[in-house]
Amino acid sequence: MATNNDVWAVVETEAGGKPKRLGLELTTLAAQLAGQYGGRGGAIVIGPREAAEAVGQYGAEQVFYCPDPACKSDLTGPASAVIASLAGSRNPRLVLFPATSTGRDWAGRVAGRLGLGIQADIIEVKVQEGKTTTITPAFNGALRVSSQFAGEGQQTGLVIVRPGAVTAVRADGGSADIQEVAVPPDAQPGMTLKESVVEKEGVPDLAGAQVIVAGGRGLGSADRFSMVHELAGVLGGAVGATRAVVDMGWIPYAYQIGQTGKTVRPRLYIGLGISGEIQHKVGMQTSGTIVAINKDPNAPIFQFCDLGVVGDLHQIVPALIEEIKRRKAQTT
Ligand code: FAD
Repeated sequence: MATNNDVWAVVETEAGGKPKRLGLELTTLAAQLAGQYGGRGGAIVIGPREAAEAVGQYGAEQVFYCPDPACKSDLTGPASAVIASLAGSRNPRLVLFPATSTGRDWAGRVAGRLGLGIQADIIEVKVQEGKTTTITPAFNGALRVSSQFAGEGQQTGLVIVRPGAVTAVRADGGSADIQEVAVPPDAQPGMTLKESVVEKEGVPDLAGAQVIVAGGRGLGSADRFSMVHELAGVLGGAVGATRAVVDMGWIPYAYQIGQTGKTVRPRLYIGLGISGEIQHKVGMQTSGTIVAINKDPNAPIFQFCDLGVVGDLHQIVPALIEEIKRRKAQTT
């Protein structure tokens, strides 16, 4: 069945019921794309009505939400059944999913239920000559591959979008049509959840952080990560890391930024003892301001940072922390 020109975003919510930042980015993107197609931007919120209302401020004209706790369990069957039921009955042109482990799982299940195609790992979505063109990084970010859906307009295209493809923008006077939807009766997950294990240290919210201080091998040892935590603490930011230090067991994988870790887009990124290899760069290059502290003036990170400090981090960082503390004390 032919699709209409609507474009939807799928939005995850946090434990407190707020929409996740990536969902707001996708809602903005959906509204922009729908505008170019002459359709309506929309969103499916897996969470409570308050989250749907918040999402409605980001350009969505129609917002569906499912507050059923079954959708918030670690089993993804019920939420994907909700999304498939809406997409299958209303035929939007595109549905944008967040590139998180849950979003990828939902997209796969929706594709399976409806027999639709998916474009994954997308960093940019644009309209070219009336067709959706997506960009995927390849060869460690050295190449950008552009793709289009073969059957666009005939069947809904599913797109899994990474954080940072667009900036979430509040639309003036947003007044979305908000509708509650239920989990369809055929949403059998076919699985039983036996146990949920929360990682001991908790998982840092790197995707939503406005300030990230990341540590690399230049720290010299695992215990020096306390310095990274302290600088992040005084700046009110989150801690990130390179794969090199994750592989050495200095910090858990949840902190890894890069090609095989998380993609981040803070307003301020500070890299301490990080060389800036391409696999790390692809995960943080769209940060607002990039500051690097590295003792090697030829480190690759100096080719793309905004402020580069050549020097020994063990001398610079403690002094920086003291100076920030001193200035904060002056202003309070
Ligand atoms: P290094 O490259 O060893 O750099 C350490 C830096 O610290 C150096 O530049 C050095 O000059 C500096 N330094 C040393 N001492 C000091 C000091 N006292 N003061 C200041 N500076 C100092 N990497 C990721 O980060 N994320 C990924 O997701 C990722 N995925 C990968 C996937 C694949 C398939 C492959 C092959 C690699 C991947 N990597 C990834 C690894 C990546 O290629 C780099 O090896 C890694 O990012 C380097 O980490 P680093 O900068 O901490 O270490």
